[in-house]
Amino acid sequence: MNNPYTGGCACGAIRYECNAEPMFSWICHCRECQRATGGGGMVNVVFSDSSVRYTLGYPKFHDSTGTSGQMTHRGFCPECGSPIAAKADMFPHIHGLTAGSLDEPQRIKLIANIWTSSAQPWDHLAPSLAQIETTPTAAELGELMKLDQAR
Ligand SMILES: [Zn+2]
Ligand SMILES: [Zn+2]
Repeated sequence: MNNPYTGGCACGAIRYECNAEPMFSWICHCRECQRATGGGGMVNVVFSDSSVRYTLGYPKFHDSTGTSGQMTHRGFCPECGSPIAAKADMFPHIHGLTAGSLDEPQRIKLIANIWTSSAQPWDHLAPSLAQIETTPTAAELGELMKLDQAR
């Protein structure tokens, strides 16, 4: 890979570094992501948990029961409130980071819109991306990642 991915919150209290390419990135339009970001959805850049290291500070995590019935954990800066991370008990080995918190968000490439069933009517969904109504199944995710590699 090229340089590590780095990023952090708006006030600088939290900084992180990722020493591997993201596994994938997508926009999630579920209501939880809308509430956590205050927008139409969360652009979630998914890294393997072992590749993410906090170099300064650590997010405060808000735990809630996800649509799957299992816990999700959303990390934000306790000083400035910037949304930073999203983790789910269902997928213990991954560590999602918000695209906007990256220093170079232009480096990522999206594979899909997910939870389009709760996308807002005023939100514009890129027609070039796959649209999945809820959480993709493992098979659907495999297909998306194959398509992504072919691009
Ligand atoms: Zn901060
Ligand atoms: Zn979501």
